[in-house]
Amino acid sequence: MAYVQRKISFAGAPDTNPETKPFWDACAAGKFLIRRCTACRKAHWYPRALCPYCFGDCEWVEAAGKGTIYSLSVMTRAEVPFAIAYVALEEGPKMMTNIVDCDLGALRIGQSVKLKFVPSEGGPPMPMFTPA
Ligand SMILES: [Zn+2]
Repeated sequence: MAYVQRKISFAGAPDTNPETKPFWDACAAGKFLIRRCTACRKAHWYPRALCPYCFGDCEWVEAAGKGTIYSLSVMTRAEVPFAIAYVALEEGPKMMTNIVDCDLGALRIGQSVKLKFVPSEGGPPMPMFTPA
């Protein structure tokens, strides 16, 4: 059975704070940033001030916006069906996100996906993914 997403709707804009402002400002400019440790060089998600692996300092880096579906759940009984997924980013971290603009019934674990910014109501666009 095919579940095609016809519209995306969110209750509101994401919450922002001084620590996440650079991330959301970059989203507004069409860039998807992740944090990378300046000591061990590992990238992580969600963005944190200190590296979760070695407590080193981190820097913002622009991610490629490419990944694969690591796990997936399609909410077929919602008023507007949607897919929530963990996407393994090319840089390494796994990110919880939505898969949009696709046949939800055709999504598969391991499938290649690419970044797509989705507008929010009155806030910065949200980074989500769509089949590559
Ligand atoms: Zn580190």
